[in-house]
Amino acid sequence: MSLAFRALLLVLSISVCAHAQTRTLALYGQPPLGLDSQADRTMRAELQRLLAPAGLEIIWKTLAQRESGGNFELVVVNSFEGSCTSSSAAAVQATANLADTSISNGRILPFFRIDCGRIVQILGSDVEPAVLGRALGRVMAHEIYHIVAQTKDHQETGVAKAAFSRRDLTTTRFRLDDWSITRMRPATSMSATPRSNAAAVQSHKAPPVASSVKGRVFAALFR
Ligand SMILES: [Zn+2]
Repeated sequence: MSLAFRALLLVLSISVCAHAQTRTLALYGQPPLGLDSQADRTMRAELQRLLAPAGLEIIWKTLAQRESGGNFELVVVNSFEGSCTSSSAAAVQATANLADTSISNGRILPFFRIDCGRIVQILGSDVEPAVLGRALGRVMAHEIYHIVAQTKDHQETGVAKAAFSRRDLTTTRFRLDDWSITRMRPATSMSATPRSNAAAVQSHKAPPVASSVKGRVFAALFR
C-alpha cells in the first residue's frame, strides 16, 4: 500500500469518525419578535457553542421551510413568546419561568417555548444586544438538553441547572456539565425519535395527548 494511499485512508477514517460523532439538529421556529440582529447572531453562536461538546450541529429553520424536507438526525420546534425589545419596567417575580418544554406520558416532547419578554425584563431594556443574545442561547440550550437527553433531571452546575441567576445568564463562562454532555450523546441518551416527529413539525403542533397526563417541564427558572 502506498504511503499516499495510507494517508488518504487515514484522512477518510478521521472524517468518518468526526461525522459519526456529530448529529444535526434542525431547529424550527419563527424568528424572535423584535430581536436585534446582533443579539440574534450572538444567540445562535452561543447555542452552537454550548451544544457542540454534545456533538450537536444546530441548523436553524423557519416554519416556512418545513416543506422543503432535509435529512436531520434530530428535529425540534421552538417558539418565542413576548417581545424581545420590550421596555416594560414591570418587576420580575423572585422566581419566574423563562422557558418550558412539553411533556406527555413521561416523555419529553421536542417542543419548547422561550419567554423572550421575561428575559428582557430580567436583563433590563438597556441590555447590550450581545448579552441578551447570550442569555437566550443559554435558555434554549437548557430546553434542548431536556429534549435530547430525554430527562427531566437537573444538575448542580451549568446549563442543566434548574434555576438560572442573572449571573448565569450574563457571565462569560457558562457551559454544560460533563454528565449532561454524556447523556446527550447517542451512545447513552435515549433516542429522541426525531423522524417520527416529522408530522408534528409539519403542523407545528404537538402530537395529540390526553390532557390528564400533559404537563410542563418547568425549566430555566430565574431566581
Ligand atoms: Zn429544566
